[in-house]
Amino acid sequence: MTEHAVVIAGGGPAGLMLAGELALAAVDVVIVERRVSQDVDGSRAGGLHSRTIEVLDQRGIADRFLVEGQAMQVQGFAGIPLDISDFPTRHNYGLALWQSHFERILADWVGELGVPILRGCEVVGFAQDDIGIDVELSGDTSLRAEYLVGCDGGRSLIRKAAGIDFVGLDPSTSWMIAEVEMDEQPELGMRPEGGGIGPVNRVEGGGPFRVVLKEQQVEHTSEPTLHDLREALVVAYGTDYGVHSPNWISRFTDMARQAATYRHGRVLLAGDAAHVHPPQGGQGLNTGVQDAVNLGWKLAQVVNRTSPESLLDTYDAERHPVGARVLHNTMAQVALSSPDDRHQALRDTMTELLSMDEPRRRIAAMLSGLDIHYDLGAGHPLVGRRMPDLDLHTADGPTRVFTLLHDARPVLLSLGAPCGFDISPWANRVRLVDAKHDGVWELPVLGEIAAPPALLIRPDGHVAWAGDLTDPELPQALATWFGAATPAH
Ligand SMILES: Cc1cc2nc3c(=O)[nH]c(=O)nc-3n(C[C@H](O)[C@H](O)[C@H](O)COP(=O)(O)OP(=O)(O)OC[C@H]3O[C@@H](n4cnc5c(N)ncnc54)[C@H](O)[C@@H]3O)c2cc1C
Repeated sequence: MTEHAVVIAGGGPAGLMLAGELALAAVDVVIVERRVSQDVDGSRAGGLHSRTIEVLDQRGIADRFLVEGQAMQVQGFAGIPLDISDFPTRHNYGLALWQSHFERILADWVGELGVPILRGCEVVGFAQDDIGIDVELSGDTSLRAEYLVGCDGGRSLIRKAAGIDFVGLDPSTSWMIAEVEMDEQPELGMRPEGGGIGPVNRVEGGGPFRVVLKEQQVEHTSEPTLHDLREALVVAYGTDYGVHSPNWISRFTDMARQAATYRHGRVLLAGDAAHVHPPQGGQGLNTGVQDAVNLGWKLAQVVNRTSPESLLDTYDAERHPVGARVLHNTMAQVALSSPDDRHQALRDTMTELLSMDEPRRRIAAMLSGLDIHYDLGAGHPLVGRRMPDLDLHTADGPTRVFTLLHDARPVLLSLGAPCGFDISPWANRVRLVDAKHDGVWELPVLGEIAAPPALLIRPDGHVAWAGDLTDPELPQALATWFGAATPAH
């Protein structure tokens, strides 16, 4: 039986990102993927939010995505546009880039990092014991691993087989989604009840078109057909625009469910396997990629034996509330999209509110993922928040904070006068960088904050500790997050 440290079930956005993170930490990881190629049915997710672009920037790969997409103000709450161009980030925009392209670019990176992908192969079951997990694959083969991560989408077999409840709301509305050609020019744009028609190629326009239409019924026993789509177009627009040549027809609902826990022993969940919700606000792919970036370095440290297994509990503690918040805001967006007069009045009120600065900043920071604050205890306002990508001056020349994170290793950043802090007990894990930064420190929503003299930055870009290097709590923070001090040789 082949052995790996980690088996990832599913090579979609979450699985690929996690594999990349683990490979950077030299973990022996393999992806098992049901699809025979990286091709995605239809275009699915339409883009990346600011924080996702930032996490890709933290690994030095954001440009690969930026050159293929269009940077634009993509954000909206139930379709009410929210501009983030005044946000304090280098990426004060979203990126319009279909999921098919996102996955292709990410898979290339994972390939460069040498991660094997077993394509055309499914995880069909597993059995965990005290020291590992047997992962059964289709074709009567199996793998042995220390951990199995279910990145296998909303219908996750891993979640079900682990007996993890999927708690939440049943669907109240079903939507048909398709990519089609049309003989006549359709009416483009959003519909009052949500959905609508738009060109698949957002720059050049024209066909093929992406159609999203609310259906009359919630329950369905079979996949939608071109005939169903024609009928739905006639109900919505009075014509089917001569629709033909579907590239893809599917449906989605406003079901909102979340795994009761993201970990059961040696089994972990990330991405849609851990949370499904309606696509309003375009947060699914983004949340899954950021789950993976939170989990990757922790799992790497556990399998590399630098941290105890209990570090994995912080994954659920930090990411479950983030997922719950996403479900919550998508439920509100669905309600706001109801076409009846009372909901439309509520929508007008929200539109007015979101035209004001403070509400816009708060809601936009939530949707873009820039306001995520893990509860790591009291202290400097940066603790638990994302580290801004400051310009730095170091003895080796100018650099940026995100550049220091490219290898996914933690950084102790000292911005004050050198104080002789002894990093040697952690030097094989944590890099101490002396640097200077001129300029104000500004966070989304919070605004300007006082500059701390030093910070401990986790590989996911969140600040674990901030203060003076003489702070007696610093050695404890280093040990909590990056393992016990190693005695000097
Ligand atoms: C119409 C639509 C529009 C959307 N729009 C947006 C948007 O604008 N922005 C956004 O962020 N998100 C959006 N989403 C959501 C987004 O597509 C998902 O959140 C995202 O794909 C989740 O990634 P994932 O890796 O968790 O799961 P998936 O992409 O579902 O990947 C799971 C992978 O696991 C594989 N798999 C499944 N079972 C097994 C098994 N047993 N063994 C091996 N492999 C297995 C599958 O083949 C698949 O490749 C949209 C979704 C839809 C349907």
